[in-house]
Amino acid sequence: MRHDVVVIGAGVQGCAVALRLAQAGKDVLVLERSIPGAEASSAAGGILSPGVEAVEPGPFYALCRASLARYPALVREVEAATGVAVGYREGGTLEVALEDDHAQLLAARAERLERQGLPAEVLDDAAARRLEPGLSPETRGALFFPDEASLDPRLLSRALYLAARAAGARFQTGQVLRIVHEGGRAVAVEHDAGRLDAGAVVLAAGAWSALVPGSGLPRGAVRPVRGQIALLDTRQRLLSRVVFSDKGYVVPRADGRLLCGSTMEEVGFEKAVTAGGLHRVLGMALELAPALEHVPVVETWSNFRPASPDGAPVLGPSSVAGLFYATGHTRNGILLTAITADAVAAAVLGQPPPVDLAPFSVERLAPRGA
Ligand SMILES: Cc1cc2nc3c(=O)[nH]c(=O)nc-3n(C[C@H](O)[C@H](O)[C@H](O)COP(=O)(O)OP(=O)(O)OC[C@H]3O[C@@H](n4cnc5c(N)ncnc54)[C@H](O)[C@@H]3O)c2cc1C
Repeated sequence: MRHDVVVIGAGVQGCAVALRLAQAGKDVLVLERSIPGAEASSAAGGILSPGVEAVEPGPFYALCRASLARYPALVREVEAATGVAVGYREGGTLEVALEDDHAQLLAARAERLERQGLPAEVLDDAAARRLEPGLSPETRGALFFPDEASLDPRLLSRALYLAARAAGARFQTGQVLRIVHEGGRAVAVEHDAGRLDAGAVVLAAGAWSALVPGSGLPRGAVRPVRGQIALLDTRQRLLSRVVFSDKGYVVPRADGRLLCGSTMEEVGFEKAVTAGGLHRVLGMALELAPALEHVPVVETWSNFRPASPDGAPVLGPSSVAGLFYATGHTRNGILLTAITADAVAAAVLGQPPPVDLAPFSVERLAPRGA
């Protein structure tokens, strides 16, 4: 059986790239060993924040901004195609300082961003607490990124999967065992039920990408970094927008629930919620908003960020003809889904990408002298 494109993995990256390729008229098959969205894509906070995550202006910051700018249209598109509302909420992001040192760092960062005309506002403690009255009286000031947003990644995962199917992409359950190379080209994938020939292969297997034989990824290019999350049921809303401290973040959902995250742990693929992890994320949340103390914890989980050495994604062509990457998104895979879909689909279709992909090429990660 031959397909124009075989996509490995049905997280947000695999589904979003499949959506764009199917819309371009390609015969697309997505192979997923579990259920679509089963892993990092359903575990994420859903924060869309170039300001806090990319920190300083540069290619990664620009990529994050380009993806954020695409989100309102992507949300309208997938919601209209599927009827699944993805919980997209505007209102900005606050990065709060609880210590004077952190407040000074934030002010210096704001100056750098403002000098380049990028959206960031310094707030004193009173202004921050006017915006979010639930914040701790220890607040020493904040940086406000007014045009940022958040969404519910479980709903986004579902919507992208359904939208890709509606556009004509097919999905099959299967563990990919190997990407087959012949004559210096990726020509097929072998999975647990046989072989599928492909005009092109897109590797979107998240934290497991480097484990797929034939991936061509250099050692250490993508590794798992565990994150733990606790979900609180606040009913009556205590915070209305995403708030970061220097230890973590809280993400309010539209229905009043509040997600607290997250740890960054180098523990391989050990999926677990630990006493220490919960202590850290809940301690961080209580420091930010002490009134959360009596709120019930209703769910906890952990999963693996597909982490690259520099935190930026690995996008576009590989060193093997016919093999493309949509992986390594680390902490920002939800934010970067919109631009990944357009950029990787353009690379597969041989069209000019919407952004320069050179800073995100796998070549930057190749061992020196290789
Ligand atoms: C706790 C946590 C919080 C996060 N918060 C945020 C946030 O607030 N904002 C943000 O932008 N990002 C966030 N992220 C990061 C984001 O979730 C990821 O970067 C993103 O989901 C990666 O998407 P993916 O499709 O590459 O990976 P995944 O969703 O992990 O999908 C990969 C898929 O490939 C499948 N697969 C793997 N190997 C094979 C194989 N051999 N054969 C077939 N299928 C295979 C897996 O089953 C899986 O479904 C967070 C991540 C974590 C863990």
